[in-house]
Amino acid sequence: MNAPTTLDALPRFASPLKAIESLKPSEPLYLVHPEKFAAAAETFLKGFPGDVLYAVKSNPHPIAITHLWNAGIRHFDTASLGEIEAVKSLFPAAVCHFMAPVRLAGQAKAAFERHGVTDFVVDSESELTKLLAETGNPKKLRVFVRLVAQLGGALLEMSSKYGCRPEEGARLLRKIAASGAQPCLTFHVGSQCLSPFTYAQAIEIAQQTIRLAGVKIAALDIGGGFPAAYAGQEPPPYHWFFDMIATALDNLAMPDLNVMCEPGRALCAPGISLVTQVVMRRDDRLYMNDGIYGSFDEQRFASFDENYPPTGITLDAKGKAKTLTGELRPFRFYGPTCDSADVLPRPVMLPDAVAAGDYVLFGTMGAYTVSSRSPFNGYYPDAWAVIVS
Ligand SMILES: *Cc1c(COP(=O)(O)O)cnc(C)c1O
Repeated sequence: MNAPTTLDALPRFASPLKAIESLKPSEPLYLVHPEKFAAAAETFLKGFPGDVLYAVKSNPHPIAITHLWNAGIRHFDTASLGEIEAVKSLFPAAVCHFMAPVRLAGQAKAAFERHGVTDFVVDSESELTKLLAETGNPKKLRVFVRLVAQLGGALLEMSSKYGCRPEEGARLLRKIAASGAQPCLTFHVGSQCLSPFTYAQAIEIAQQTIRLAGVKIAALDIGGGFPAAYAGQEPPPYHWFFDMIATALDNLAMPDLNVMCEPGRALCAPGISLVTQVVMRRDDRLYMNDGIYGSFDEQRFASFDENYPPTGITLDAKGKAKTLTGELRPFRFYGPTCDSADVLPRPVMLPDAVAAGDYVLFGTMGAYTVSSRSPFNGYYPDAWAVIVS
C-alpha cells in the first residue's frame, strides 16, 4: 500500500527557499523531507540487530507514519487504543505492539480482539491480572515486564513513572510464565540518550532479572531513546549504539531471543523542518507565529537543552527568498499566544539584520512537535508542503 491521496495533494517544492518564495506563509509551515524519513528508517532497518518498531507518540501524523511505512517500517510501538486505530486505519497490515504498562480499562481487550495485538507491557501485578482477565487467552500473549533503567545517559528520563526493579521484575516474569503467556523484558533508557554504553548497562539489568527469575524470556525490547542531531552538536553515530547493543546481546548468550527496539525521535525528527515568520521585532525580541504551545512544546522541559537549528531567510525587493547572512546575535523568541510563558527558554542565534516579515527555518523538527501542539489561544500550526530534492 502506498501514500494516501492527501499526501499526494500537498504542494511540492524543490527547496525550502522555493516554498517560502511561492507561499509567503504567514502561518507556520511544516516542510516534509521524504528522503530523510527514508534514510532514518534505513539506518535502523539495516543497522539494528532485531525488529524496529516506530514509537508513534513521537509523531502520530499520517504523513510521518506513511513515510516510515513506505521506507519499510512494519512494526509500531503504540501506547493507546487511539494510536493503534490511527496506524491500523492507514495500514491494516501494520503490526502494533501495546507498549504502555498502564492501560485504560477495556483497551487491552479491544486491542487484542479487534486489532490482533498480542504484545503488552506490565510493571505491576495488578495490571498483569487485568491484562489476563481482559484478553482471556494467555497462550497467545507475549507480556513484557518494564524495568527501571535510570542510568543517566539521556536528556529526558523515562524510568521515574514506569518500571520495576529486578527483584519485582523477576517475580512478574515467573507469574507471566505460570499464566501460560510468554515472558519478555523491556526498558526505556530515556529520550535523547547520548551515551551508547547506557544500553549495554540496561541490558545487564535485564540479564540480572532473567537470572533472578530463572525463566527463559522470548523477547527483549530495548526501547527508544536514540538521539537526533540538534543544533551545534553531533550525537555519537548510530553504529556505535548498534555495535554496543550487539555486543551486550552476545553476552546474554540467548541466540533465539527476539530483539526489538522502539525509536521515535530518531526516526521522525530529521524528516520535518518548520518555517516560522517574524511578526514583529522589538530590539532583541522576536514575536513569532509559533511557540511553546505550538511546535516548540518540548522546549518546556528544563533538562531538554537542545535547540532546533535556525536559518534566517528574507524576501528581497524582487520577492526572491535569500538566506540572511552577517554576524549572529541572540534573540528572545516569543510565541503568538498572550501567555507570558510563551517564550523559548534559550535565545535563538540569528543575523542582526532579521526584521518583521522575515522567516526563520528550523531543522530537525519532526519529533515531539506536531504530536504535542495545542490549539491554545486560537493558534494551531497545520500547514504542510513537501520538499522534493
Ligand atoms: C516515548 C517512548 C518511546 C520513544 O522514545 P524516543 O526517545 O522518542 O525514541 C519508545 N518506547 C516507549 C515505551 C516510549 O514511551
